[in-house]
Amino acid sequence: MSDFVTRFAPSPTGYLHLGHAASAFHVWDAARAAGGTVLLRIEDIDRTRCRPEYEAAILEDLAWLRLDWQKPLRRQSDHFDEYQAVLDTLRARGLLYRCFRTRREIAAALPAGADPDETGFIGRPLPEAEERSRLARGHAFAWRLSLAAARDALGPRFAGLSYVDESSGTPRRVSADPAPFGDVVLARKETPASYHLACCHDDALQGITHVIRGEDIREMTAVHALLQALMDWPQPVYRFHPLVLGPDGKKLSKRSGDRGLRAYRDEGMTPDDLRRLTGLP
Ligand code: GLU
Repeated sequence: MSDFVTRFAPSPTGYLHLGHAASAFHVWDAARAAGGTVLLRIEDIDRTRCRPEYEAAILEDLAWLRLDWQKPLRRQSDHFDEYQAVLDTLRARGLLYRCFRTRREIAAALPAGADPDETGFIGRPLPEAEERSRLARGHAFAWRLSLAAARDALGPRFAGLSYVDESSGTPRRVSADPAPFGDVVLARKETPASYHLACCHDDALQGITHVIRGEDIREMTAVHALLQALMDWPQPVYRFHPLVLGPDGKKLSKRSGDRGLRAYRDEGMTPDDLRRLTGLP
């Protein structure tokens, strides 16, 4: 067995669909080709949207696809204390601030149509007295990573942020600019650790050497490069695979009529039929 370690990291917010199957096939194909290992990570940090029955369904669907992983799986919701420790470290270094703005306020501050969770909002800490009074009144807030503070902390390393992209088969170091994402949210009340934080923490902890993920997460990898630099975490190599597109040319989603894998299974399709549907040989 080689030292190649990758992972499949679904969020149990619904049933796996064709896009997940494609991602899984890419992950397991790569591990097989390298004689490596696949880990399974359940990314269930969003306590409002994740459900145990979807986790059970993921395991069942993977078994049907004949995709096996090294046990035990890692369930992120069992590890909030570890993510909290990272938040504490970043906070102690002055890299985080409390942002009390609501989603609606953020959306109003951004260009029309921009997603307040993903687009470059830059805020600033409130004056101490106002912050204290809001906390006393129980106002909800998010912990944001200050891009300006991160830039100061990293000095010249900030402009040199990069990662290795192996999507084409040949490793290529590409530069990573987290600035378009602004001050990203790393925690909020209903999600005590954000996807970015939990994902990068776990990739480092689990010794992931290769992250194989959809093209849709390519840009966001710049935020991960920033967190890895700030926390001195080892950086995996990245491969981005093409997305399965619906008839409208857009990424498959429930809205575009994508069905859960179990619907295909119930129709008598085999895992090989699904591979063909995702465009894989
Ligand atoms: N939970 C994320 C997803 O399902 C994982 C993406 C990744 O980091 O590869 O999209």
